[in-house]
Amino acid sequence: MSGPVLTTYSMWSLFRNCRKACEWRYIHELVPLERDHNLSFGSLIHECLEIWHRDRNLPAVLDHIDRACPNRAQDEREQRDWHLATAMMKGYAARYPTEEFEVVALEKTFEGKIVNPATGASSRSFVLAGRVDGIVRIGDEHFLLEHKTASQIDADYLERLWTDFQIILYAWYVERTLGLRIAGIIYNILVKARLQQGRGETEAEFEERRRKLAARSKTGKSSARRRLPESDEAFQERLAAKYAEPGMFHRETLYISRDQFAALQAELWELTQAFLDARRRGAFYRNTAFCFHYRRPCAYFPLCRSGGSPNVIENLYRKVPPHEELRDGSSCEEAPAF
Ligand code: SF4
Repeated sequence: MSGPVLTTYSMWSLFRNCRKACEWRYIHELVPLERDHNLSFGSLIHECLEIWHRDRNLPAVLDHIDRACPNRAQDEREQRDWHLATAMMKGYAARYPTEEFEVVALEKTFEGKIVNPATGASSRSFVLAGRVDGIVRIGDEHFLLEHKTASQIDADYLERLWTDFQIILYAWYVERTLGLRIAGIIYNILVKARLQQGRGETEAEFEERRRKLAARSKTGKSSARRRLPESDEAFQERLAAKYAEPGMFHRETLYISRDQFAALQAELWELTQAFLDARRRGAFYRNTAFCFHYRRPCAYFPLCRSGGSPNVIENLYRKVPPHEELRDGSSCEEAPAF
């Protein structure tokens, strides 16, 4: 008889949001061919932070970025990521030349039983596994270190951190499996600068601008010069100035209330029971309120709209075993479906 099935918070979160999406991902093992760009960038920064916090060796971090963007000379998106990641990590190293915490572990995985809090019995069907970005110590207290890349940090963003149940649940598992008492979470937030590299003008664009300027001028002439593309060096300088601003990096510490552990355990247990029921009946219903939850279509939208057409599967999806985030060499969270 096979043992309990390995699950992750990503799976349970997806099941809670839309059971159909959970079925597409975790039963049919489908993922979209095109990976969400924000997730790829977030993964790169997670890898960089792991290297930085392990050795505090900035050249090694920058070398990792270079190797992660090998086609940047031809590929605009890679070029953008390279610029942003390079400036972000240089700015980060300058902002935190020393740390108030001591690193205990990085990219630490765990695996533990899912327990029915009412009876104390463990699930025979599922176990929960996960990976934390870091465990650090300040004095005699331990904290989970959680990296986040954000478009901006404002009061709403910081307010929403309390809803990050994944990390609180992980803290409970780290306590149980590694025997460390976790006092709280240190959110390490890095802001993605919105600056764009100047593209310059094409010959035609320049001629058009010059014609308009000349038409407005009393002399009928214009001394305008063609705008040239911004060099990599000049763009890095602009980004460096941006990353010297205090608001581009932020650390927020939240202390864990022990009551949250019990509530999350109960919720997780409920989800396991609902999943078993859905699987038994083959009934993973759709939550259409979630199709556009993140202001863009869910990754499985074409599949749902086509009623699960094999053609759509063949052209837009590939099979990938679940729980990518737990495999060695992957420091990213599994791509959510939304
Ligand atoms: S498209 Fe809508 S119904 Fe289908 S999996 Fe995504 S959220 Fe669920």
